[in-house]
Amino acid sequence: MNFGFGTRQQPLPLMTEKKLPNWKQVRGAAVAQVQLEGENCGEVDALWTRQSGLPVGIITADCVPILVYRNDLKAVGAIHAGWQGTEKNIVEHFFHSLPADLADPKEWSAHLGPSIRACCYEFGADLLEQFVQKFSWIPRTQIEPAPRRLDLIAINSAVMNRLGVQIKSVHPDCTFCAKDEKSEFRYFSHRRGDRNSRMVSVIQLK
Ligand SMILES: [Zn+2]
Repeated sequence: MNFGFGTRQQPLPLMTEKKLPNWKQVRGAAVAQVQLEGENCGEVDALWTRQSGLPVGIITADCVPILVYRNDLKAVGAIHAGWQGTEKNIVEHFFHSLPADLADPKEWSAHLGPSIRACCYEFGADLLEQFVQKFSWIPRTQIEPAPRRLDLIAINSAVMNRLGVQIKSVHPDCTFCAKDEKSEFRYFSHRRGDRNSRMVSVIQLK
């Protein structure tokens, strides 16, 4: 299994030999299985495959890219968790949509890529309240670590912890404020004004 998260310098990680599928992200919670190179998957925000050498990915520019794999390497997947997908609990939908032989979340591990973090993610009070109510089992201080700041990583991590998914890594960078050694922004950020530039996060079985 290998995986990579895109950056501004390298929006599509180099690892992919085969073509990604075609899909349209609609900030929903629908999931598609990918079986063929370049397959048309429709409107989905999470994809997975059992096929070796076939990449699956998702596109982000602030949202949380979550790359997941079965510990026995029977399948890999990519989940797009922006605030809308998180509010719809796309992570739980992903695992519930899998066929029985793959579905046990305890058999999966996850890497969370660069995304906008609470340092920069100001959020309206009404919508924040919606999250606090929907995820009432998560401490409010995790959902809203500072006034009017939403922590998408904390929510999705809590969901995965509860399901039993092992979180292997959480990328420390904030897509809004992280800079490289030349003091240039390291990522595209929708909040910062990048509208047509996106980064791809990709995972595949060898
Ligand atoms: Zn930041």
